[in-house]
Amino acid sequence: MDKTYKVAIISNEKKIEIAAKSLKQPEGSQVLVKVDSCAICTLEQRIFNGIMKRYPFAGGHEASGTVEAVGCNVKSLKVGDKVATRMLTSCGECYYCRSGHENQCVISFKAEVHEGISGPGGFAEYMLLDAKALYKMADDLELTYAALTEPLACCVHSINNANIELGNDVVVIGVGIMGAFHIQLAKLRGARVIACEVDEERLIIAKKMGADILINSKEADPIQKIRELTEGRGADVVFCTAALPQLAADSVQMTGKVGRVVMYSSFHPDNPIELNVNKVHSNEMNITGAVNANTRDFLTAAKLLSQKMIDPSLLVSEVVPFGKLEYAFQRAIDPKTYRIIVKM
Ligand SMILES: [Zn+2]
Ligand SMILES: [Zn+2]
Repeated sequence: MDKTYKVAIISNEKKIEIAAKSLKQPEGSQVLVKVDSCAICTLEQRIFNGIMKRYPFAGGHEASGTVEAVGCNVKSLKVGDKVATRMLTSCGECYYCRSGHENQCVISFKAEVHEGISGPGGFAEYMLLDAKALYKMADDLELTYAALTEPLACCVHSINNANIELGNDVVVIGVGIMGAFHIQLAKLRGARVIACEVDEERLIIAKKMGADILINSKEADPIQKIRELTEGRGADVVFCTAALPQLAADSVQMTGKVGRVVMYSSFHPDNPIELNVNKVHSNEMNITGAVNANTRDFLTAAKLLSQKMIDPSLLVSEVVPFGKLEYAFQRAIDPKTYRIIVKM
C-alpha cells in the first residue's frame, strides 16, 4: 500500500479537518519537502474566522522544512537542505510576470499543492513543490524562524518601494509583526526610525527592534510630534502597517515634501479616506502600496535570516504542535499575538 501523509484543511468557519493523501516521489524539477514549521498568517486567519469564505482550503503559505528527496533535474538543492517555501505562484506568461512584477501576476495564489484541495497547504507533513518555489536557508538557522521568510520578504518588498536614503526620517505606524520587520529593515537601510503605536508592550518591542523614537499615539498627537522631530518638515517615509482608515489618512498628513507613503496593510472593509490632492501635488508626494514579495525580495529575506541580520525571535509568540491546530488558530486570531508557529 502507498505511504500516506496528513494535511490540514479548513473545511468551514472555525472547522479544521485532517485528510490523508498518498505520498508521491518527486519527478523532474520537483522536490519533496518534509515540513517542519508553518506560521499562521492573516489570510489563513480570515478564512478560519469566516471573513473570507473560501472552503475547503488547505492553508499555510509560511512553511519551512528539510529536503527529503529531489527529482532528477534539480540542481540547487540536495537531500537534508533546509528550505523556506515561496507559495505565491506566478504564471510566468502574463504582462506583470514578464515585466519583473511577478507579485502582481494575474493568477497569483492559485496553488494546489495537495491533490484535489486548493490552497498552499503548508499545514501538512509533506509538500511536493517545484524547486523554484524553494529557497535554501543556512544550516544553523532554526526552521521555526525560516518559516518567517515569507512575511519578512513582503516587508523587504515594501522597504524597496520606499527608496529610503541614509539619515531619512522613517515612521512605522503599528508594531505588529510586519511593523516590527519594517523597523529592523529601515534601520539596516540607515534611517532614523520613529515607531507609532498605542500599545505600550508593542512600543517595547519596537525599541528592541531598533526604533530610535517611540510615540504612544494615545498620549501624543503623532502628526504634531513628527513635525517637531523634523523641524516642521514631516517624515521622509511613512509605512502604514495598521489597517485603520484614520491611520492611512494620518500617514499622508505626517509626510513631508517629496516624501513617500507606503500603504502596507490590506483593509477589510475597504473604507475610503479623504485625500488633500493639492498636498500631494505641491509637495510631490509619492503614495504607493506594497503587497506580497517578488522572487528577488524573497531571496533577500532568505539571506537576511540566514546571515542573522534580522532577528525574528521576539516575533514568535508560541510554537504549537500540529495535533493542536485548532488551538493554534484560536491563538493566532487573538490580536495580541505575533506569529503562532505550527510544528509538524
Ligand atoms: Zn504570509
Ligand atoms: Zn503571471
